Amino acid sequence: MNVVPLFSDKKEANSLWYDTIHWWLEPSIKFRFVETGKEYWFILGADSQKPQSNKSFFKVLPHSTHYERFKRGHEGEAYLRFGMYSKKNFDEAKGDTQCECGHISEEHDEDDASCLYEDCGCKMFESFQVNLLKRKKTVTDIVFLKEQDVKDDPLAWNCFNANKYSKT
Ligand SMILES: [Zn+2]
Ligand SMILES: [Zn+2]
Repeated sequence: MNVVPLFSDKKEANSLWYDTIHWWLEPSIKFRFVETGKEYWFILGADSQKPQSNKSFFKVLPHSTHYERFKRGHEGEAYLRFGMYSKKNFDEAKGDTQCECGHISEEHDEDDASCLYEDCGCKMFESFQVNLLKRKKTVTDIVFLKEQDVKDDPLAWNCFNANKYSKT
């Protein structure tokens, strides 16, 4: 399975990969998923061949079916890859382009781009497209935590300490 941090700017993605991720030692790469209720924190870090410029990353995300699928299905190994995303609005989309609501472009109102299905809450057509970049790293250190357990995990603890507990 892939874990895919998303970027809209290809230059930014490439320089982050070559400056940081490229130098990571694969067995040391860590994925940490810390559940805090409705959200989870995705934390990414590793030991680097260039420790002086090493970085770790985190992002707070809402729970999703993608997340649940990954949690159940990863079997202890995943690829870290970057993805480029682009948005298409109603005017740019073709008739069969799928909206985030699951219905295609043609099933949206021509005037205000809202979904024509009455039981669908979609107010405005919006489509995301993701292209995966080729470079990847294999990650085998994958841990799911509850927030009360972060103190036992150095990477998660450092992240929560710096970005949550010191900012009250
Ligand atoms: Zn819809
Ligand atoms: Zn829609």
